[in-house]
Amino acid sequence: MPEIVKLPPSMKFESPEQERTHRKQRLAAGFRLFSKFGFDEGVAGHITARDPERLDHFWVNPFGMHFGHVRVSDLILVNHHGEVVEGEMPVNGAAFAIHSQIHAARPDVVAAAHSHSIYGKSWSALGRTLDPITQDVCAFYEDHAVFDDYTGVVLDIEEGKRIAHALGDNKAAILRNHGLLTVGQSVDEAVWWFITMERSCQAQILASSAGTPILIEPEMARLTGSQVGSHLAGWFSFQPLFDRIVREQPDLLD
Ligand SMILES: [Zn+2]
Repeated sequence: MPEIVKLPPSMKFESPEQERTHRKQRLAAGFRLFSKFGFDEGVAGHITARDPERLDHFWVNPFGMHFGHVRVSDLILVNHHGEVVEGEMPVNGAAFAIHSQIHAARPDVVAAAHSHSIYGKSWSALGRTLDPITQDVCAFYEDHAVFDDYTGVVLDIEEGKRIAHALGDNKAAILRNHGLLTVGQSVDEAVWWFITMERSCQAQILASSAGTPILIEPEMARLTGSQVGSHLAGWFSFQPLFDRIVREQPDLLD
């Protein structure tokens, strides 16, 4: 099995190659987890990781490959013109249109995740943010936005720019009538925020179908957000999922 590059976010990598390998391993694991959680919908969905050297290039899944099959060696590198510069397979036009503009607008963002997961897209149809009804959803309190428009499949970078503008400085956006989008300072963080945001959509749909959820007070929601919603908390929450998926599906590292 290839060696796993496992360093906490505060530690420095020995070389850009080591950091690239680290990001690609986390990215491949992220796709396997998206598959395991059932976030696939045909060929929709993408997670990107900025290259540590070529900062306007990103690694992404090949268009048309199932999340559950993605290995490190399958990942493709896309430049700022949308051209595949490493790898044989094509890039999803929507992945380029959305993610290139987010990576450009947010230099702090290393990774961005989007898919058409069932609870995320269901909630997105309401065109509103999530309420602070559980401890977990407080990670998004005053830290997510709604892209309150829908204009078809996003293939135009101008539309990607509008989504990046709606995202603002937040860690997540709800794309109306479409699905969820999350970002992070690490792949680990972006993938974790996606998983927990999808489950938060599920929790609010369940709770509000059974009754009237009691809201956590703003001050307490803000405090909880600072506890469960930090960059480190997001990174840390991903670690057991990474360990589990690598143990179950070690070929993802190939
Ligand atoms: Zn989409």
